[in-house]
Amino acid sequence: MKILLVEDEEKLRKVLKLYLEREGFEVEEAADGEEAVEKFQPVDHSLVILDVMLPKKDGWSVLRRIREKGETPVIMLTARGEDEDKIFGFDLGADDYVVKPVSPKEIVARVKAILKRTGKKITADNLQIDKAAREVYVKGEKISLTQKEYELLLYLYERPNIALSREQLLNGVWGYDFFGDYRTVDAHIKNLREKLGDARDYIKTVRGYGYKFEVGS
Ligand code: CA
Repeated sequence: MKILLVEDEEKLRKVLKLYLEREGFEVEEAADGEEAVEKFQPVDHSLVILDVMLPKKDGWSVLRRIREKGETPVIMLTARGEDEDKIFGFDLGADDYVVKPVSPKEIVARVKAILKRTGKKITADNLQIDKAAREVYVKGEKISLTQKEYELLLYLYERPNIALSREQLLNGVWGYDFFGDYRTVDAHIKNLREKLGDARDYIKTVRGYGYKFEVGS
């Protein structure tokens, strides 16, 4: 299971990473809010540990962006133990809240408790997307996509189990100034499904509405 660890204090980040890895978790690090938003993948991360006070984009903004993409459990880390903060965090959809200074052992215990409670990790085992290289692999084999097909797939993949309208897809992938119509989306989905082969079933049609990247738990 992979955890996204968002903390700008390098020393604390390294200590937490060490403890989590010792318990068998894989840890991906982010040192500021923008890096966290960039790296977060609902299909990839089982849980997020998120500091509130971060450079570039604070933890609350990052939490909002995570919640736009799904239900991945989030543990917030804060320097203050104020109740308003806690209530605000839970309102935004945080799953747990730890006040600094944190004990790495406590974090590990909370991580385990939350994963036990939520009990699921969404996976798309047949499909891997390498965002840095803009490459897509189905069952380990690289497939060749056009730029728009890639962007459409990534847009769906990053919003698992959320029904997306054709309009949302058109605006999200082609942009608001694009003068195409919904058939553009349908045509690209058709090509994408053909190229995805065994991984095609992740893309479900939502009748009369749009599409959904559906993954099981
Ligand atoms: Ca901080």
